[in-house]
Amino acid sequence: MSIIEIGLIVVILFVLFRIIKTFSAKSIGNLGERRVARLLSKLPPDYKVYNNVIIPSYSGTSQIDHLVISKYGIFVIETKNYSGVIYGNEKSEYWKQCFRRSKFEMVNPVRQNYSHIMALKKLFCGLPEIPIHSIICFVGSADLNIDVYSAHIVFGSELLDKIMLLSKPCVEQKIAWEYSARIEHKRIESTKETEKQHKENARNAVRQHNLKVANNICPRCGGKLVLRKGKFGSFYGCSNYPTCKFTTNA
Ligand SMILES: [Zn+2]
Repeated sequence: MSIIEIGLIVVILFVLFRIIKTFSAKSIGNLGERRVARLLSKLPPDYKVYNNVIIPSYSGTSQIDHLVISKYGIFVIETKNYSGVIYGNEKSEYWKQCFRRSKFEMVNPVRQNYSHIMALKKLFCGLPEIPIHSIICFVGSADLNIDVYSAHIVFGSELLDKIMLLSKPCVEQKIAWEYSARIEHKRIESTKETEKQHKENARNAVRQHNLKVANNICPRCGGKLVLRKGKFGSFYGCSNYPTCKFTTNA
C-alpha cells in the first residue's frame, strides 16, 4: 500500500470519527431533553411548558431547552445529559467532565442560562415582573462537584419537586398568561433553517466574545479586564465591578 493510500485511509477514518462523535453527542443531548420534556408534561395545568424555544437575543438568537411559565414564577431549564464527574463553579467559563483516563470541557451552563434569561427579560419588557428561576437539570449518571449560587442544580428525579417547592403565587393567573402569549407570539419557529441560523449566531457570538477577551475588553459591558487575585488563584475581572461581575480565567 502506498503512502498516499495510507494517508487517504487515515483522513477518511478521522472524518468518520468526527461525524460519529458529533452525531452521538447530539443524540445524547436530544435524549436528555426528551426525558425532561416528559417530566415537565406532568406539571399541573396552571404551568405552561415550552420545549426548545428559540427567541431573539442580543447576539442574534437564544435557544432555551425548556421554559415553564406560571403565576409562581418562570423556570428556565438547561438540560445536561452527562456522565463522569462534573466539576464547576459560578464564575469559570468552562466546567470539566472527568473520567478515569480522560477529561473534557463543557461551557458553563449557569452562564449559558444567564444569557437565556437576559434574552427573556428583553422579550418580556413592559410586563409586570415575575421572578425568573435558573435551573440546570442533569439527567445522566454524572456525579456533581459544583459550587454555584445563582442557579438551582438538580437531577432529573428532583426537577418537579424543585419547581413545586417554589409554588408561592407571585402574580395573578392572567399576568402569567400574558407572559405565555408573549412567548407564543415572539418565539421563532424551530425549523432546519432557524436551527442552522441559531448555530451560526452562537458561533459568531463565541468568536466575538473570545476576540474581546483576548483584547482585555469585557464582553458583557465593554469595560477593561484587569488581573485580580481570588481565593482560587488569579483571574481577569471587569473594571466596572460590582456593576458588572464578568470574570474569566487568567
Ligand atoms: Zn463588564
